[in-house]
Amino acid sequence: METVANFIHGECVTGSGQRVQAIFNPATGEQIRQVVMSTAQETERAIAAAQLAFNGWSRQAPLKRARVLFRFKALLEQNMDSLARIISEEHGKVYSDAVGELTRGLEVVEFACGIPHLQKGEHSANVGTGVDSHSLMQPLGVCVGITPFNFPAMVPMWMFPISLATGNTFVLKPSEKDPSLPLALAKLLKEAGLPDGVFNVVQGDKEAVDVLLTDPRVQAVSFVGSTPIAEYIYQTASAHGKRCQALGGAKNHCILMPDADMAMATNAIMGAAYGAAGERCMALSVVVAVGDDTAEALCAQLEKQIAVLRVGPGLEQTPENEMGPLISAAHRSKVLGYIDSGEAQGATLRVDGRGFSVKHHEQGFFVGPTLFDNVTPEMTIYKEEIFGPVLSVVRVKDYASAVALINHHEYGNGTAIFTRDGGCARRFCEEVQAGMVGVNVPIPVPMAFHSFGGWKRSIFGPLNVHGNDGVRFYTRMKTVTARWPEMQQDNGAAFSMPTLG
Ligand code: NAD
Repeated sequence: METVANFIHGECVTGSGQRVQAIFNPATGEQIRQVVMSTAQETERAIAAAQLAFNGWSRQAPLKRARVLFRFKALLEQNMDSLARIISEEHGKVYSDAVGELTRGLEVVEFACGIPHLQKGEHSANVGTGVDSHSLMQPLGVCVGITPFNFPAMVPMWMFPISLATGNTFVLKPSEKDPSLPLALAKLLKEAGLPDGVFNVVQGDKEAVDVLLTDPRVQAVSFVGSTPIAEYIYQTASAHGKRCQALGGAKNHCILMPDADMAMATNAIMGAAYGAAGERCMALSVVVAVGDDTAEALCAQLEKQIAVLRVGPGLEQTPENEMGPLISAAHRSKVLGYIDSGEAQGATLRVDGRGFSVKHHEQGFFVGPTLFDNVTPEMTIYKEEIFGPVLSVVRVKDYASAVALINHHEYGNGTAIFTRDGGCARRFCEEVQAGMVGVNVPIPVPMAFHSFGGWKRSIFGPLNVHGNDGVRFYTRMKTVTARWPEMQQDNGAAFSMPTLG
């Protein structure tokens, strides 16, 4: 059985720990590889490699660092097909969705190629008589990324391109469920000319994470995953004096107004609810329909479209499937449990995804697309993140009730409104408590040159990922105030606080 390695100081090294985790092809249910959970010593070795590499890498000219990323970008493009296949094979998402994920990651690499421009700092001449001031945006040192299973390429690429471009070194701890793709990225970075030790991958779980969170050589931690773990990461990293950004779970609502373009909205909702089998932090899992007629029209249309949704393996199908399996048998059972609970708590189950199987892939971790109507805020399927192909429709009487519902939810990652009324959309953008807002756009994921992040319990820490926030997160500012002697008059020592004088 192939074992997925660590990547430390430019070399693939198989872990020596005792705990081994199986990696499955979710479309077939078969084990395809295994990965060894790194020990504390192995994790420390990766941190040491990153620490050793920091001096040389941080002193390189920013343009030289950017050139490595330019070459990495070209290699990503050349290898797009094989990388997308790895993602689809281990995660289950369909091939075109895997290409989409890689493309969104690639866009952050493109953004990072331009970082010399964003890392220039500030300069003010004559802040006092004969005194100039300038700021340096310096790298932090060893930075860490801890990432979830659902975007094995994109989420690590939200982090390390910016971290490396600004002069830091990096240790990535990817999800143990689909660890092959991050390793492939490490090999491409080496091929692009990245010096050994600048980027390292440690496979593993809590044992490795806890070393990364507490080791004094680590300066900053970026995390993306579920909310309870995000909170733990933020608290532990902060308690150990590290800068931390920890992005958590979500329950993304959209409001469907009666005046919306129903065909446009239904297509958007289908893709956003069932794409990647709902395993996206920006998946749309709740539609708040304003008015019974709106809800009825939507559900009737969704029923028709769900009936023809192509569900199956992510690779080698013509025409391509639109929705793949879930990540694991355990997650499949969890999602089926949520469907049971929605039914038991009185929601109207309009499309039931239980008992679903795909011909010749009967052992795959599939759940069929599921639609609940008449969901209420007390129900478990409304309150909790399901992370599966389960869409809930909540009926409300007016816009104000819809926005109040969203604002009351504990999560605030993404949200959207479907309407033709510009005034209503504008008010929504003002009032809604969420970090990313779409107007007739169902998954409003910001581009690489903007920043990505939610509100409320969808994020811990003040800075979002990528864009300007990403540059700020991976740099610290030093402000230099300088006076040069030739014009100086000798006024003797000054003991009061310096002012403009
Ligand atoms: P997860 O929280 O189970 O795991 C994320 C990472 O944390 C993994 O690397 C895992 O090994 C590690 N981890 C797990 N348990 C740990 C523990 N007890 N101590 C230390 N480390 C631990 O998340 P997941 O199931 O891989 O991913 C799905 C979740 O990620 C969903 O909740 C989804 O909403 C969220 N997510 C959020 C965003 C966002 O941008 N907000 C993006 C993608 C995914």
